[in-house]
Amino acid sequence: MAKPRVMGSDGRGRSEPLPVEFANTLSADRGAPVEGLGTPADLGAWLRRHRSLFPEPGLPPGDTVLRVSEQQLCHARDLRDSARRLIEARIERRAPDPWDVAHVNRASGMCQSWPVLVWPDARTPGAELFRTADAVTHSLGLIARSLVLLLTGSQGALLRSCQAPGCVLFFYRHHPRRAWCSSGCGNRARVARHQARHRGGHGK
Ligand SMILES: [Zn+2]
Repeated sequence: MAKPRVMGSDGRGRSEPLPVEFANTLSADRGAPVEGLGTPADLGAWLRRHRSLFPEPGLPPGDTVLRVSEQQLCHARDLRDSARRLIEARIERRAPDPWDVAHVNRASGMCQSWPVLVWPDARTPGAELFRTADAVTHSLGLIARSLVLLLTGSQGALLRSCQAPGCVLFFYRHHPRRAWCSSGCGNRARVARHQARHRGGHGK
């Protein structure tokens, strides 16, 4: 029987915090938006790949393929877009769109879960998580809750948008000198600065 696992969601290590990873499913390539949640299968694969970031088991153990509906995909993208706008508002210290706040709050309350005792015989008792909705809806609810905690907690002050040219990703500045979402973006920004200086030096 599966036992509940308690996993941290502080995003330490290589990953960003869960809501930031989710917001970053929309990226950009040379200024053109790149949708990371293009199909229901993309969403299922993303949830599987990021399961270790969830604050409690968002998904059942094992490698079974998640069945995601088109409707859930639309809901996930809406939630992602609201999360992006709210993170931006937090970074820029401005009032959010109330629609985005309402959307996240609705997602946060979509599913409840609690541990139930599973003890069929004399062996060690186990616990399973009982959910009031399917695994995908539950996972989106957990993302919304993590976003609420991230935006309102002390971590919220350390959210940043990447300043590299054309990048639309967010990151959590766990190190004071971190200025970009990735070393690749850091390199691109340095090259762009160098080129701008070079152009300036040979300008009219
Ligand atoms: Zn970047």
